[in-house]
Amino acid sequence: MQLIDLRSDTVTLPTPSMRQAMFSAEVGDDVFGEDPTIKRLEEMAARRMGKEAALFVASGTMANIISQMIHCGRGDEMILGDQAHIFWYEQGGSAALGGIHPRTVKNQWDGTLAPEDIEAAIRPDNVHFPRTRLIVLENTHNRCDGSPIGPDYMEAVADLARRFDLKIHVDGARIFNAAIALGVDPTDLTRYADSVSFCLSKGLGAPAGSLICGSNAFITQARRVRKVLGGGMRQAGVLAAAGIVALTEMVDRLADDHDNAHALAVGLSRINGISIDYERIKTNIVYFGIIQKDLSPPQLCEKLNAAGVRVLPADSRRLRAVTHYPITKLDIEAALEAVAAVMG
Ligand SMILES: *Cc1c(COP(=O)(O)O)cnc(C)c1O
Repeated sequence: MQLIDLRSDTVTLPTPSMRQAMFSAEVGDDVFGEDPTIKRLEEMAARRMGKEAALFVASGTMANIISQMIHCGRGDEMILGDQAHIFWYEQGGSAALGGIHPRTVKNQWDGTLAPEDIEAAIRPDNVHFPRTRLIVLENTHNRCDGSPIGPDYMEAVADLARRFDLKIHVDGARIFNAAIALGVDPTDLTRYADSVSFCLSKGLGAPAGSLICGSNAFITQARRVRKVLGGGMRQAGVLAAAGIVALTEMVDRLADDHDNAHALAVGLSRINGISIDYERIKTNIVYFGIIQKDLSPPQLCEKLNAAGVRVLPADSRRLRAVTHYPITKLDIEAALEAVAAVMG
């Protein structure tokens, strides 16, 4: 029996052309600035995000902590959503490594923060208060049904940020999913951000790596912070080579993942005992609930696993399935049959 692994879009394997590019990559010592393949990837990433420069880093978590540490000094405050990946899944690194005070604002179901909530959270100048420096947005929003966040909203937050002299960081781990789902260019989503990070190792299928994009001055600082965090890599052009293939060959096909996620969500909505609002599913992440009280998400995961389908428990009532390369329409049909059989 072949497993259909929908736990995450991080389980993608490098494509044959990635392996070929890795094999033949021209490399050098990147801490000396001598890896031509990394430079090429960084230039390509900066161009795709509409920024002056970019930096190749080990992971999305590293991209986010570096960006936060540049925008905020110790004791400064950042405003972010209460469902943000940075808040949930990055070990509280903002506080632990950056000395940054996270101020959470409620995420709306579509991944946005209400501008009035952001404004209410901004601190006035007062000796008692930390100083607000940064607004963090996430696009697509992982814990909010993978929702893509559009240019109009970004512009509204940018107006607010400008009025209060705040910076904006976009955790764009899946920014290409957002752009494709909305039918816009990624730069339409990033032009309002002072920094943006995105992952090569999720739906784009590269084995490792993320990029931080921003102004030349910002990336110069980012290079320093990366080094102190232990992220200065040497001949990492072998990884960047896969990243270049990810950017050139794997972006447009994300639309297939979105179609498959939609089909999965619609199919799940027709299965007894499963609850899902499939109209909210716009990209590749599908959260769904269990109606029965006597079946917990870990229990359902275990049963599905035995039936050849892997998903993850998300919280006390919900599970998560993510579509990605090379999951096909047929896989989705088979997965739905398995869920229907398990739910009886
Ligand atoms: C996966 C993810 C990250 C972190 O990326 P890693 O490479 O796993 O460290 C950051 N933000 C979001 C929204 C993510 O989904």
